[in-house]
Amino acid sequence: MSLQGKTAIVTGGGRGIGRAICLEFAAQGANVVINYAGNSEAAEKTAADCEALGAKAAIIKADVSKADEVDAIFALAVEEFGRVDILVNNAGVTKDKLIMAMSEEDFDKVVDTNLKGAFLCMKAASKLMMKQRSGRIINMSSVVGVRGNAGQVNYAASKAGIIGMTKSLAKELAGRNVTVNAIAPGFIDTDMTAVLSDKVKEAILGDIPMKKLGKPEDIAKTAAFFAQDEAGYITGQVICVDGGMAM
Ligand code: NAP
Repeated sequence: MSLQGKTAIVTGGGRGIGRAICLEFAAQGANVVINYAGNSEAAEKTAADCEALGAKAAIIKADVSKADEVDAIFALAVEEFGRVDILVNNAGVTKDKLIMAMSEEDFDKVVDTNLKGAFLCMKAASKLMMKQRSGRIINMSSVVGVRGNAGQVNYAASKAGIIGMTKSLAKELAGRNVTVNAIAPGFIDTDMTAVLSDKVKEAILGDIPMKKLGKPEDIAKTAAFFAQDEAGYITGQVICVDGGMAM
């Protein structure tokens, strides 16, 4: 696989799955714009590691749920690299609680970041990619958006919404040579899942046919696949990378 000379924006690219995507894209020759929310140290480290692979990298602090901050991400990409070939909507948060304990703020925070953030980035990317008549948009959904999960009404709403947005935008942009696809990871070993108790982790493992958590690199390879020129006839798809969990 090669992404030589392409420019990619990866939201939430400093840590976890986003970091692995940045490194995979960089290894394949892409320039990367790494967006983060607050952890500048992680973003700087990821940028340095991308540069060590021979890629150009830029970092930008921006809250993807805010339109003006999203505009700044795209302005930086155009200023630094002249175009945007690939957008990965990866930034995401959880605020898990059973519905009776879930506050309106917890619901809004998760939906604003995971769903509205992806909408704002897709809108900014569409403007550029429609003009270019080429592009790849890759959205991070979740097995939870496919199957639901107790304690994650807010998160499931955002991740199921991602699937609906992916298919809708795929239809809007199909004639412009821009593909829009989603990845639905299962349980991947990152900071997001590190906070779960051993009891919860054991229960999850019991629910995964392959009996192991996934690695961020598993998701990064899938994102790189969707980003290839050769994947140009694939759009509106959701691929589960989950050890068989969503079967
Ligand atoms: P993670 O390790 O918690 O990293 C989340 C990333 O999102 C961080 O880089 C964070 O930035 C960024 N972020 C959070 N809020 C943001 C905002 N408002 N604006 C911009 N960036 C923001 O999570 P992960 O496990 O790598 O997950 C990455 C994506 O995969 C998420 O969309 C998640 O829902 C999805 N996913 C994960 C799993 C899993 O098992 N891990 C499973 C299914 C789907 P800072 O570094 O600055 O804090």
